[in-house]
Amino acid sequence: AAKEEGKGTFHFYDQQLYDSIRSKLNAEAELVRAIAENQFEMHYQPRVNAFTGQLTGLEALVRWRSPLRGLIHPSEFIPLAEKNGCIVQLGELVIDQVCVQIAQWQREGEPLVPVSVNISPTQLNVGGVDTLIAGLLKSHGIAPELIEVELTESAMMSESTDVIGQLAAISALGIKIHLDDFGTGYSSLSRLQEIDMQIIKVDRAFTSRLGAGPEGDILFKTIVLMAKALDMGVIAEGVETEEQLHILRELGCDEVQGYLIAPPLPAADILALMHRQYLLADAVTS
Ligand code: C2E
Ligand code: MG
Ligand code: MG
Ligand code: MG
Repeated sequence: AAKEEGKGTFHFYDQQLYDSIRSKLNAEAELVRAIAENQFEMHYQPRVNAFTGQLTGLEALVRWRSPLRGLIHPSEFIPLAEKNGCIVQLGELVIDQVCVQIAQWQREGEPLVPVSVNISPTQLNVGGVDTLIAGLLKSHGIAPELIEVELTESAMMSESTDVIGQLAAISALGIKIHLDDFGTGYSSLSRLQEIDMQIIKVDRAFTSRLGAGPEGDILFKTIVLMAKALDMGVIAEGVETEEQLHILRELGCDEVQGYLIAPPLPAADILALMHRQYLLADAVTS
């Protein structure tokens, strides 16, 4: 691009540095504003029983509907929000928005399933996640069984007694805790037992290796056996093919989530799936 401009590269690189600093400042200001104006919306991805195809839950995934740039995915703003602390307010917006949605479905007599919400390690470190959730459940009149939380291994590994206390308090509310992206972090087995978690979500990196050779299948099988030994459920993330689903059933994986079943969808579209209840009917009967 510099050559085409024909004005000398030196100027171009200065300009590039300037632009990059300016765009970082802009991005930060935009995000602060987006939170103040709540430009966020939730999409929901179903998970189903691997054997029956029955809908077992939804995962709430945040999207930023930017008036300037359109629909933005979390990988493009969650890291920034974590770095500048905005994630705490964003996390509140997310949980509140999910509660508002569940309460609406509840009022309208829709068939309800648990909705899991992703919580960032920073939110846990700042604290108050347990009281925030408890307050929102109460004010929206929602049963604790309808909300679940997803935490990555790094969030669980904190030695802080406050983090452990919050997780215990969340569990005590009757809220299930999912260990998200399992296999990408470095949690110890002893820690897995220390914290009261009910579900392991195996990262897509492992799902995508199924069927490609014996190692991938054996690795996944080991995780399933470990989860069962710890009396935990297992969800395979990122299931994209019939072959992966087939292998996962043979390995005894309880639940599956991924594009094969459905991508994350806006609330209106997810409602149609909630009415169908059995989302893998074809695969099950064939
Ligand atoms: P995650 O919690 O592991 O969510 C799963 C991600 O995998 C989602 O990306 C989802 O769209 C994508 N996915 C689902 N099925 C498939 C599949 O079959 N194939 C492929 N290639 N991808 C699939 P998304 O929505 O872009 O979210 C990315 C990450 O951002 C999430 O990973 C989560 O860590 C974070 N995130 C999303 N929403 C929130 C939120 O409200 N709060 C916080 N703190 N983090 C969030
Ligand atoms: Mg998740
Ligand atoms: Mg995940
Ligand atoms: Mg993942």
